[in-house]
Amino acid sequence: MTRCRVCGGPDVAPGTTELVNTVDGTAFAATLPASVCQACGDTKVEAPTVKAFELQVAAELARMGRPTPAAFRFMRTALGFRGPQFAQLLGVDRGTLSRWENGVLRVDRGAFVVLGGLVIEQLAGRDDTMCRLRALHSPVSAPRVTVHVHSAQI
Ligand SMILES: [Zn+2]
Repeated sequence: MTRCRVCGGPDVAPGTTELVNTVDGTAFAATLPASVCQACGDTKVEAPTVKAFELQVAAELARMGRPTPAAFRFMRTALGFRGPQFAQLLGVDRGTLSRWENGVLRVDRGAFVVLGGLVIEQLAGRDDTMCRLRALHSPVSAPRVTVHVHSAQI
């Protein structure tokens, strides 16, 4: 049995709690599964649940269409990218990315759209944009490529 991390009590039961994440003055809230101490009321949300919540917040930020420094940073970290790693993936200088996130430079709209695409595709279990970004680092050249056209597309 898991004991409460705050009071040490033995009566920790499944329940829910509300998490709120505020970005650029907008509070994003969700009721999530949690372990709840019946003695002191402490709640504990598991790390994968928090990560899923942050990814949903990032998707909302992508859809809201406000490419602010805080939104950009939140979305990047929700995907688990470190700054230099994401700058390399985008093909921009790490200083440029840092200036976007610190509000020194206006966030590049194209980069914001790409980042939002990565977030939304990850939620949908897809990696189209990630594959295309990786392809930019090792381009494929071929003398001939056969493409397939299905009748439903005509
Ligand atoms: Zn407790």
